Amino acid sequence: MEKKRVAILGSTGSIGTQALKIINEFSEDFEVKLISANRNDQLLLDQALKFKPKHVIINTISGYNYIKKNLKQNKTKVHCGGKVLCELIEDEDFDIVLVAIVGFAALMPTISAIKSGKKIALANKETLVVGGGIISSLVNDYNGTIIPVDSEHSAIFQCIQGEKINTVENIILTASGGPFRGYSQHDLESVSIEDALKHPNWSMGNKITIDSATLMNKGFELIETRWLFDIPYDKIKVVVHPESIVHSLVEFHDKSVIAQLGQPNMYIPILYALNYPKRVRSSAPKLDLIKTKSLNFESPDKSVFKHLQFAYDAIKSGGSFGCVLNAANEVAIDGFLNKKISFIDMANIIEKSLEKITFVQNPKLEDLLEIDLETRKFAKSIT
Ligand code: NAD
Ligand code: MG
Repeated sequence: MEKKRVAILGSTGSIGTQALKIINEFSEDFEVKLISANRNDQLLLDQALKFKPKHVIINTISGYNYIKKNLKQNKTKVHCGGKVLCELIEDEDFDIVLVAIVGFAALMPTISAIKSGKKIALANKETLVVGGGIISSLVNDYNGTIIPVDSEHSAIFQCIQGEKINTVENIILTASGGPFRGYSQHDLESVSIEDALKHPNWSMGNKITIDSATLMNKGFELIETRWLFDIPYDKIKVVVHPESIVHSLVEFHDKSVIAQLGQPNMYIPILYALNYPKRVRSSAPKLDLIKTKSLNFESPDKSVFKHLQFAYDAIKSGGSFGCVLNAANEVAIDGFLNKKISFIDMANIIEKSLEKITFVQNPKLEDLLEIDLETRKFAKSIT
């Protein structure tokens, strides 16, 4: 069997490095053709030396010079910047493009992958939050395939295999509740960066870890669900499940509920997406129900975790709301991680941005790029 040719966008991140580990484990099935990163030049260089891809792309000029100088293998071409990344995605042959870039920066490369008919394994969720409408119509136009990597969406995708989407009555997304589950608004006022970065169940990149603490992550996943499965927002529910063992559930119209369970790690969803529709034997730790003992479920508190309410508003309004929400959220997280603002200030920055930036009902891609910039500028001015 031919090896699957893989491009990993964001190979130095939490998802990217885990994907490379899997590819290393299943090296007879996969070949890495392209890796890319923002600025972690040393790790990207190490990955290039190990996997010998055809292309390596980094965003910084210093990183480009560093890799160029130290990568003494002429099999690999080194490039710099997001534009060339999009061109390579379009021009080269890949069997699967894993989009593991964090944030808005994944939007254009994802579009390039769809337009050039590449199968996408999508870890990035911000792309669908910002431009879900545009992405799903492109997927229709180009007959594209997106396989979800996010654990909840991988769970839903696994639950609906062989089912008709019009038999789905509700999708129930599970949320761990993050490190501040059960906190009051007052408790949240004094939490530190270190507290927010301590996720109880998952080990992930910093941005998504903060998103998990504010519940923005779950809000984004609501929007992601809406677009990935073409399901109306009032059929998507969120339930807090502190053990993170049930990764999500699908209720069908006969009232049967199918769930997917597993240990909380990204190994299974990444492996599943890379191999879909095949299910391969894995070395993942087994789920031990006797040790797990109990599975608990409770309602999320939208009055304390305002970010979740913002996402419900975004999914109802559609249009440019998600783009503003995402940009303001990215700026707010930067402000929080750089100690400019407190944890609860993040919600205020988003709220003000949503009030300030003019709503567009049917934005085109150019409108979204502009709205993103405008929102960032405004959000920074109040951070
Ligand atoms: P991370 O911060 O660990 O890694 C991000 C990667 O993107 C890095 O390789 C970085 O170099 C690259 N990158 C950052 N900015 C870039 C830019 N401007 N242009 C090009 N590349 C850039 O993030 P992560 O935790 O791996 O998450 C990646 C995406 O997957 C996010 O959208 C996140 O929401 C989603 N996701 C992550 C997990 C997880 O367990 N980490 C789970 C589900 C979904
Ligand atoms: Mg998730």
